[in-house]
Amino acid sequence: MTPAGSSAGLLIGTGIGQGIARGPVARMSPPPAAPVAERSSLAPEEETARVAEAIRVVAADLAARGEQAGGEAQEVLEAQAMMAQDPSLAEAVEAKAAEGYRAEWAVHSAFEEFAEMLKGLGGYLGERAADLNDVSQRVIAHLRGLPAPGIPDPGHPFVLVARDLAPADTALLDLDKVLALVTVEGGPTSHTAILARSAGITAVVGARGAAALAEGQEVIVDAASSQVIADPGPEQLAEAERRIEQRSAVQAAPVTPGALADGTPVPLLANLGSPDGAQHAVELGAEGVGLFRTEFLFLSSDRAPSVEDQTAAYTELLKAFPGKKVVVRVLDAGADKPLPFLTNDEEENPALGLRGIRALLAKQEILEDQLTALARAEAAAEADVWVMAPMVSTVEEAEQFTELASAHGLKTSGVMVEVPSSALLAEPILQRTGFASIGTNDLTQYAMAADRLLGSVASLQDPWHPAVLRLIREVGAAGQVTSKPVGVCGEAAADPLLAVVLVGLGATTLSMAPAALAEVRYELSQHTADSARAAAAAALGATSAAAAREAAREALATQHAQ
Ligand code: PEP
Ligand code: MG
Repeated sequence: MTPAGSSAGLLIGTGIGQGIARGPVARMSPPPAAPVAERSSLAPEEETARVAEAIRVVAADLAARGEQAGGEAQEVLEAQAMMAQDPSLAEAVEAKAAEGYRAEWAVHSAFEEFAEMLKGLGGYLGERAADLNDVSQRVIAHLRGLPAPGIPDPGHPFVLVARDLAPADTALLDLDKVLALVTVEGGPTSHTAILARSAGITAVVGARGAAALAEGQEVIVDAASSQVIADPGPEQLAEAERRIEQRSAVQAAPVTPGALADGTPVPLLANLGSPDGAQHAVELGAEGVGLFRTEFLFLSSDRAPSVEDQTAAYTELLKAFPGKKVVVRVLDAGADKPLPFLTNDEEENPALGLRGIRALLAKQEILEDQLTALARAEAAAEADVWVMAPMVSTVEEAEQFTELASAHGLKTSGVMVEVPSSALLAEPILQRTGFASIGTNDLTQYAMAADRLLGSVASLQDPWHPAVLRLIREVGAAGQVTSKPVGVCGEAAADPLLAVVLVGLGATTLSMAPAALAEVRYELSQHTADSARAAAAAALGATSAAAAREAAREALATQHAQ
């Protein structure tokens, strides 16, 4: 991946998913002009009351949009509505009004200070600064009697270009009209990206040069190569049309169990963060769940969740998958996913701190409650529950977790391999536990020493890097020696070509955002196990991520030609 930038007609950002689309640009309606520090002729209490009313209306609107959108979007919008009603924000607004300023300025400056503070915290909270700016602009628009800034309606399908897109807007995008989404700002873990990925919208985020795109200008948005091509030529258009048609044929193909061309089964599973997405995943052909991220259920709690609450949430999930495998990960707290009741926010380097299984073993009662809840949920439903520990880095942690899970009556337990040490020790680890699931997002971050949230090192955060592939090979080989299943549940499994390579490296199942299932299913069905192994060998022999991708592509083309 090239750093965000542009050359004539070609803009580079970060592609979300594998989609491709073409169409004319329509830009977002601009936000209200920034207020200035104007003195008010009203009493401070009157200005404060105006703000309180505007916040109430905006929060209710966000919650209503959430309800309309449902699923993951609903959680995001409800979190945003809660953010708007944060009492410390209200106090900061009141303090500005008490200094004699108008409501608009009080909102603008109080929200900006909060957003700056969030940015300073970085990581998951830093990414929420954009959400807060959106709330501020909505409140200011309401105070001025203006409509909320939002999605344009040029009367025909369009490629939406925005500086950054608020969750409230992303959630309600009309996919019949919005062909693709391009943002100037935002990274691969911004809410825009998360929602675009789960809705299957073709998107390129963080394409700096997109700020210069004009209304009506023709563009091709190619998420697979992270590119936006402005004013494409006839050949580029013809190639884009060919790929668009091929994609829609793939999306419309009948849902079958995941398998290679020679019939080797490769079960395709879903990554989920809440029980809400389960039904949709089943419709898209998920053969079970390969990663249920339990921490997503409790990101906004400051107390450890009760056994009862957890049992209810897990039972709801399991009931959607009768007779199917559901891999539940115990709470993975830390770094980009802090949980106040488990992590210490004073660590200087939380990605290398007391996180994942380390944090759980340090507060074992929380882990035991979760295992109790999972065992109860398993008894109440008919799914086959597999439980796994995140961020395992030693053989002892794997052993300890497996013993605890079995003491709580959970028959299948395993570990995530997302730290290089556990990839290198995969064989002794697998001798002591039931299965491994490779988390390529963190495995890449740690192998390449490249923060997964940092745009400036995004080019190193590439699971195609042969250094990462070699670690994966270790785990695949250990799975074969010990006859234990090895899944992949990081984003890498959602890249169709890489999915073939992962199978060639020894992965026995692949788990991904449900929107990616169709394309991965299709790509696997085109290649045999021998071809997958040849592609893996070719990629392993490369010296860069780009060369590995190319080598795998060539190896598969050669195998096809034979
Ligand atoms: C991973 O690290 O690849 C993974 C699947 O876990 P998460 O993205 O939740 O950290
Ligand atoms: Mg991880």
